[in-house]
Amino acid sequence: MQLHDLMHRALEIEADARSSLQHEVQSRTADLRATMGALEQANRQLRELTLHDPLTGLLNRRGLDEALARGAEAEGAAELGGTLVIFDLDHFKQVNDVYGHDAGDAVLRWVAEVLLNLLRRRSDVLARFGGEEFVALLPATALDDAVVLAAGVLDHVRRNPIDLGGGRVIKLTLSAGAAQWRAGETSQTVFRRADESLYRAKADGRDRLVAGDA
Ligand code: GH3
Ligand code: MG
Ligand code: MG
Repeated sequence: MQLHDLMHRALEIEADARSSLQHEVQSRTADLRATMGALEQANRQLRELTLHDPLTGLLNRRGLDEALARGAEAEGAAELGGTLVIFDLDHFKQVNDVYGHDAGDAVLRWVAEVLLNLLRRRSDVLARFGGEEFVALLPATALDDAVVLAAGVLDHVRRNPIDLGGGRVIKLTLSAGAAQWRAGETSQTVFRRADESLYRAKADGRDRLVAGDA
């Protein structure tokens, strides 16, 4: 082989090597991107899971805390007149005691559906806060309007006995406390005021809504 041919062959080999290395790098990069995308999606799903209550699908306490923190940060959120309502099932422990925990779970899912149906359009935050406590944050809703909406929820629960199947039909009621989110107020403060109203609703005989301005 001539020297010229040898050099030509060497250049060909080098070009081939470069091209296959390039392909390899491209394909590895594509693999890496795909893996990163899948990881990001898994992280998003995981985050969604950590913010939601598996029983009802509503936000859980952590999800609620984050939503309230966002509400407090949002410039002018309080000026828009958001109202926070806490609902609590009356004598719910008896449902578990008499019908069992599964029946209690079914009741909690039923209440979550009622809240979603009656408040979804007006609320950007619906959460199951604790065992049998639910929270709705109604943005841009004055206290009086929130009272009408929340009273509608209490009416619905009072008037619609829950069919647990097997001939078991139970009547339940809800108590609720509402507080308007004042300008500059922290979420903890508005929450505490709503909770105090709820406490009064319980003390005054349950199956009622108290809207506090205290
Ligand atoms: P009150 O009218 O004063 O609110 O009385 P209550 O019985 O509703 O309240 P209490 O706090 O005494 O009991 C709440 C019950 O909620 C006790 C607990 O067994 C039940 N509970 C909490 N979480 C769950 C849950 O995830 N599933 C079921 N089935 N029950 C739950
Ligand atoms: Mg209760
Ligand atoms: Mg409670």
